[in-house]
Amino acid sequence: MKTLLGNAIDSIQIGVEDHESDDPRRVLSAVRNISAGVLLLFKERLRQLSPDGSDDVLIKQFIRPARDKDDSISFVGKGSKTVDVQQIKDRFKDLGIKTDWTRVEAIIKVRNDVEHYVSIESESRVKELIADTFAVVRDFVSDELDLEASELLGEETWLAMLQVSEVYEAHRKECLAELEQLKWWSPGMARTAEYLRCVHCESDLIKPQTVGKRLSITQRIVCTACGGAMDLIDIIQPALDECFYADQYISMSQGGNPPLDYCDECSTVTYIVDDGICITCGSGHKHLKCIRCGQGLTGEEQQYRGLCSYCEHQATKDK
Ligand SMILES: [Zn+2]
Ligand SMILES: [Zn+2]
Ligand SMILES: [Zn+2]
Repeated sequence: MKTLLGNAIDSIQIGVEDHESDDPRRVLSAVRNISAGVLLLFKERLRQLSPDGSDDVLIKQFIRPARDKDDSISFVGKGSKTVDVQQIKDRFKDLGIKTDWTRVEAIIKVRNDVEHYVSIESESRVKELIADTFAVVRDFVSDELDLEASELLGEETWLAMLQVSEVYEAHRKECLAELEQLKWWSPGMARTAEYLRCVHCESDLIKPQTVGKRLSITQRIVCTACGGAMDLIDIIQPALDECFYADQYISMSQGGNPPLDYCDECSTVTYIVDDGICITCGSGHKHLKCIRCGQGLTGEEQQYRGLCSYCEHQATKDK
């Protein structure tokens, strides 16, 4: 039987071969194989750390307690289902196993995108995936598995990945440097720039067509991966959501003010609360505090001419 490590190597090697083939139908297969390979490497680490006789407890989705002959209790794996991405993440955290989760999540996202919307099989997304995988595998294999990635995957696969990754990273750096030249309206908007993607092919290898003295929301953006063009306004909303995703999640699950708010002027949810500016129309909230109780006002409450919804309710009741 092939080991997990053997399967991980096979998957990544075949994925890279898929990518090098001229057959466009193999793009999907490249994404699937490469992302699967990364997850198998992670599982291999969990397998290695599982105690002997525990039925590979750390890679099993379900765990059950067992009583040994000497009455000691231990946990063993149950069934054949193995851990999913979230469980791998949790167990890595518990066991102090480190990897670059931002890149891993980018890999998983490309995988999910191709599974759900077959149209996002763009060439540049696969190159990006290979670049991310290259960095993740290089560090994980040497830091956690104590092996050399080039030896493990074989010179041929490793050099092919290195080349794609270097070209991609250099290109990405150029694009980011040009995006940085734009006169972003606020710090939050500047942060969002890093998350912008082409509306046609989803690539992040995009840059401004020209850089003017002032930034307009209809700024022309060109994609160096597919050659398409778009306006900034066409792509800013998803970038903003992704940029503030973690803060938004924390505010929803643990309370606190959400980082983004509704803009009463242009009816979008692109108002950055910390910056006090809507990055679609450039306006701020007209009323910041309730004139009656001093409570901070949300975008939805702007319609009450300076009152919060509670005070507005009280005022109309009194009439
Ligand atoms: Zn594009
Ligand atoms: Zn607005
Ligand atoms: Zn009030």
